[in-house]
Amino acid sequence: MTQADQKLILILGDQLTPHISSLRGADKSRDCVVMVEAAGECTVVRHHKKKIVLVLSAMRHFAQELRKQGWNVVYVPIDSAANSGDLAREVAGIAALHPGARVVATEPGDFRLAADLRNSDVELVEDDRFICSHATFNAWAKGRKELRMEFFYRDMRRQTGLLMHGDTPEGDRWNFDSENRKAAAPDMFMPQPKQFVPDAITEQVIETVGRLFPDAFGELLPFWFAVTPDDANRALQHFLQTGLPQFGETQDAMLQAHRFLHHSLLSAYINIGLLDPLHVCKSVEEAFRKGRVPLASAEGFIRQIIGWREFIRGVYWLKMPDYVNSNALAAMRPLPGFYWSGRTQMNCMAHVVQQTREEAYAHHIQRLMITGNFALLAGLNPREVHEWYLAVYIDAFDWVEMPNTIGMALHADGGVVGSKPYAASGNYIHRMSDYCGACTYDVKQRTGDKACPFNALYWDFIARHAERFKRNPRMAQACRSFERFDEAEQKRIRTQAKAFLESLTSEY
Ligand code: FAD
Ligand code: SF4
Repeated sequence: MTQADQKLILILGDQLTPHISSLRGADKSRDCVVMVEAAGECTVVRHHKKKIVLVLSAMRHFAQELRKQGWNVVYVPIDSAANSGDLAREVAGIAALHPGARVVATEPGDFRLAADLRNSDVELVEDDRFICSHATFNAWAKGRKELRMEFFYRDMRRQTGLLMHGDTPEGDRWNFDSENRKAAAPDMFMPQPKQFVPDAITEQVIETVGRLFPDAFGELLPFWFAVTPDDANRALQHFLQTGLPQFGETQDAMLQAHRFLHHSLLSAYINIGLLDPLHVCKSVEEAFRKGRVPLASAEGFIRQIIGWREFIRGVYWLKMPDYVNSNALAAMRPLPGFYWSGRTQMNCMAHVVQQTREEAYAHHIQRLMITGNFALLAGLNPREVHEWYLAVYIDAFDWVEMPNTIGMALHADGGVVGSKPYAASGNYIHRMSDYCGACTYDVKQRTGDKACPFNALYWDFIARHAERFKRNPRMAQACRSFERFDEAEQKRIRTQAKAFLESLTSEY
């Protein structure tokens, strides 16, 4: 039976926020919440098992909470016999049982899904969990020759008032990066992220995911992520006390024995709606104002969220749908199989892939300067690299993963996200990590059997794209350095790189 003006409110797996825009103004006695566990969404790419568990378990907990609050929730579990696995089809089936009802949803963070839902007559309302709306970002971007995060970030500081005194930034500087980003000492105290014991709902989801998706990427167990807003908030409080004070200092460091260093591991919780980004930033500001953390750490952390996170989202919606096909550096090489298996002699790559398999997590510099840098230097196909990142990380959703991969890591957008590619030789990895000491290769050698592959690949990358990069003031120096090698050395480097690239195989 249908009541006049009834709404079916579709809530997706990354919209688990009690005050989500689609729920606002809805009437518990008339309207109905719809949640669908769609196998099709779990297999678009080979999503990590832990990521599927996180999303499904958090959805079930969210539905339980809504029911407690008096909502009527139609919930379609992934293993129910009647579930077709196709989100749009399931929603259409439920809508057919409520003739005349409007189906409403908050705009998904995935361009493809948003288009599918619009085509299925679902009314989409803006996702206002972000600090910067589409309209504000588009107005900021309009007429600018280049989009630079740093200037956008200053506007976000002014808009939110975070770490501001009127119009002046705290400490009279916008950015304290020069005090951050040191190499970490292996014996430095490293906190562990807050871990949670799975409850009965999560245990059930773990069993189901193991059964339905045996070929999905990564290790299913142990699973310790938060799946409710309360637990995600506990993880935030834990980070404020243990990780934040040294967050800035060790932000770029990589250590084999310490996978998480002082990183927050909050991205997945923020991205699926368990934590509100502004609340997180205000809590960080408060910790600074109470004298518990240095300004460099607080500013560095807040910049990642109101700067990078919002900027990346703005770029995604501004540039889609073409953005996914960007390939400014004409990179065509298939993804090597070791991205899945971790089987390679390069210790840095093996370590990051193995950690990713086990944790569904690698921190920013591991993603950017190890797996991302290798993909950039080796000229891996951006579309394949994007699909890999989308699959393997617990926090990966199209809107945030794609510009980070295609723009920041691969420079495939020709410089929209970053003014220069983050290309580096083995020397950078050696400086910022302890990977090289345990590697078969020698980071000091450019050519020869034992030479670190990142070295020849770096110079080969510079040589391949010299015409383009010579004109970029931030890359011109590297181009000149390659030209200063004598002809024989240039030839040796390029031959070494070619042989290495030809040895790569997609098998895993
Ligand atoms: P912290 O180091 O503790 O940082 C704090 C918070 O800042 C994060 O929780 C996150 O919300 C935000 N943040 C930091 N950097 C970025 C950024 N560049 N873009 C957006 N938010 C940022 N982040 C995702 O959330 N999902 C992704 O799928 C994703 N894919 C990435 C792919 C590549 C190739 C690269 C280089 C980066 C990617 N990032 C992605 C950004 C960043 O690496 C992760 O947000 C971060 O590592 C998450 O771990 P954390 O919560 O411990 O972050
Ligand atoms: Fe990586 Fe090269 Fe260092 Fe080995 S020597 S860990 S391949 S950077």
